[in-house]
Formats: sequence, structure tokens, C-alpha cells
Amino acid sequence: MTTFSADRSYAQTLDAADQLATFRDRFVRQDRELIYLDGNSLGPLPVRTQARIAEVVDQDWGVGLVRSWDKWIQLPRQAGDMVGEHLVGAAPGQVTVCDSVTINLYKLAWAALDARPGRDVIITDDDNFPTDRYVLQGIAAQRGCELRTIHTDMDAGVSVETLAEALDDRVALVELSHVAYRSGALADMAGLTELVHEEGALMLWDLCHSVGAVPVELDASGADLAIGCTYKYVNAGPGAPGFLYVREDLQSLLRQPIWGWFSQHDQFAMGPRYDPAPGIDSFLTGTPNIIGAVAVEEGARLIGEAGLPALRAKSVEMTSYLIALADEWLAPLGFTVASPREAARRGGHVTLRHDDALPISQALIRAGVVGDYRTPDRLRLGPIPLTTSFTEVFDALDRLREITATKSYADIPLEQQRVT
Ligand SMILES: *Cc1c(COP(=O)(O)O)cnc(C)c1O
Repeated sequence: MTTFSADRSYAQTLDAADQLATFRDRFVRQDRELIYLDGNSLGPLPVRTQARIAEVVDQDWGVGLVRSWDKWIQLPRQAGDMVGEHLVGAAPGQVTVCDSVTINLYKLAWAALDARPGRDVIITDDDNFPTDRYVLQGIAAQRGCELRTIHTDMDAGVSVETLAEALDDRVALVELSHVAYRSGALADMAGLTELVHEEGALMLWDLCHSVGAVPVELDASGADLAIGCTYKYVNAGPGAPGFLYVREDLQSLLRQPIWGWFSQHDQFAMGPRYDPAPGIDSFLTGTPNIIGAVAVEEGARLIGEAGLPALRAKSVEMTSYLIALADEWLAPLGFTVASPREAARRGGHVTLRHDDALPISQALIRAGVVGDYRTPDRLRLGPIPLTTSFTEVFDALDRLREITATKSYADIPLEQQRVT
């Protein structure tokens, strides 16, 4: 790699060497001027997914009608195996695509607590994603157990020492995000899992901000349980179903609390009593979202084709480039880099701190660059390895510099919109 320069021609040199550049055309790009740096919130639409959804709607549903259930019935598992193979390092039969992340968290956390009788503590951290904290608060209230919330620096990510101090033989379950949604800090999955196992507790990882962005090795890291979403880096579309992972040897020991008919052994016997199906199928609940599951399958296939190592390499190169430009141009304007500077400790996005982050993020959207704002004063920028060019990163930061230097965001009303 040539040495960094804050000149546009440098970005063009990086683009010319980009092995993944052709993947740009595998995505729908109606607005070719738009610089989209928010794949960490909603990934773009792959062309093949658009076609496949049309096929499912027109043919499978439109023509096949109820007969199509013959092939749809295995889709949660089939899409799950695809996620397992290409995205999260899980051997077949341990991942299934169903429900939302929130519901999957509830199911797995509840089942984990039942599997550790005599223990009554759940650990999570105060910087975890809201739905994670709320679901665990609810479970603690419903079961009369203790939720021990450890403190995490919102920029640095989970501290091994703080977790070690909080662990004892009352802890049944630890639930943490692999990549922090705000700063993008990446946790040491294998190391933290081992720490939790030493105390005899189960470890549940939330992969929402890592799946499809960083290589995840669930089997190799010894993780017990995981959940993740598919509408961020997996590009499966708004409201696409989540996935869950239960390590094979735990599947027969854990029973989830929602006894729906899709987890019933011999489902269509319509028998009188609940008798869970063997394996990962016992973690399903009701009728799966077929259109969403098809999009998950295509999303995972596309990333598999590019290869996660190549994708991660470009992601690291782009976020490092973004940070270098921020240091050069934005630091004098009141910005600080809130994400870890060490690439190995960072996920797929970069977070910048600024007192006026909220109006700046909106002015940036007005200038054709979509990132997003997170409380209290953070701007998240997530270049997407399969679609974003280095030149776009350059142009995005150039516009950010211009907006901040000229204070052209001053006319943006300060009240926060419903969605940021
Ligand atoms: C996006 C995200 C979620 C979202 O949960 P849903 O049930 O899909 O709304 C949960 N956890 C984390 C860490 C996330 O980043």
C-alpha cells in the first residue's frame, strides 16, 4: 500500500487496486450520486435478492400457493446453515433463521437460566444495545433474578477486568454484544467466553453489529449461544428475520419458553401435547417469514462469494483511511475519533464525537451522505466493503469538513427526529 495522503488521487489509487470493486454492481443503485455509509443500520438491496423475492412472490406464492410449503418448511434451517457456513463459523444444524433478535434473545436467555438451576444472576453491560438491556431487565423481573449490569466505557468497549470482577458462582448467563453498536469496539469472543466458562456460566453473544462485517468463529471460540440480525451487514432488508445459534451439545439440554407448533416434533400430527423437535428446530416458534428468510439466504450467499476475509480486509482499510482523514481534517474542527484506533479492536464502522453531532449528521444527509447519529453526541459512518469506494469515503469526509467548517448545519432544527 502506498503511504497515506489526503489527496483525492490517493483514494483513486486505492479504488484501482480494490479486489471487491465489481461487487458494487451486485447491488441496486438507483441514486448513483448517493454516498451510503449506513449499512450498519440497514444494508443495501442486492440485485439477486430483488429478483429472488420477486420469484418467491410471483411464482412460489402467486402460482404455487400453499403447495410451496413443501420447500419453504426447511428454509429456516437451510438459511441458518448458510449463515453458519459463510458468516459465523458454525457447522450445520446449529443456526436457524427465525423471529426477531429481540425474541430470540428472550428465548435463549430464558432457556439458559433454566439450564443453570440454583444460579440467579444475569450479567450484561450498560453500553449494550437497548433491546438487550430491556429484555434482560424483563426476564430478571419475571423470574425474580438479579440483573448485574457492569460498566463499559462507551468508546473502548467491554473490559475484561470488569467482567472478571462481576463473575461468581451465582452467575447463570452473560450476554454481551460482540461489536458495540455505538463505538464499533470489537470484543474478544474466545477470551471472554473462556472467562465466563471458568465460572460455570453460559455465554450468549449478540452478533448484530459483527455478522457480515467481521469474521466470527462461533464453533472455534467455544461460544454457547448467539443471536444476530440480518438487515444490517447481511443486507436482507427491513424487518428480515434474525438468527440464533445453539451449540450442538446444548441443544437437547436447553428448552426455550415459547412452545410454538413450528418447534413441535411431528408438527402436522397436530398432537395434544407439546413435544419439542430434536436439534435446532426446537428453537423455532411459529410460521416463519419466508420472504425474509429467502433474503437472508441470498445475503449470506453473496458475502460468501466475496469471502469474509477479503471483505474484512477492505473494511479495515476503509475505516483506517476514514480515521486518517478525520485526524487530518476534522480534529481541528472539534471532532474526536470515538472508535478504537487499533483495527483489530474495531468492527465495521467508525464513530466520531462532536458537540453538534446531531445537526451535523442531518446536514450531511442533506449533502448526499447518509450516516447516522447516536446519543449522546456521536456520528456513525459505516463504509460498506461490497459497495463503498475509497473515493466515496474521501468525498464524504470532504463534505463533512465543509459542513462543519462553514457551520452550514446551523439552520437544522435541534429537536431530534423520531428515527435517527
Ligand atoms: C440492531 C440490533 C438489535 C435489533 O434487534 P431487533 O429485534 O432486530 O429490533 C439488537 N441488538 C443489537 C446489538 C443490535 O445492534
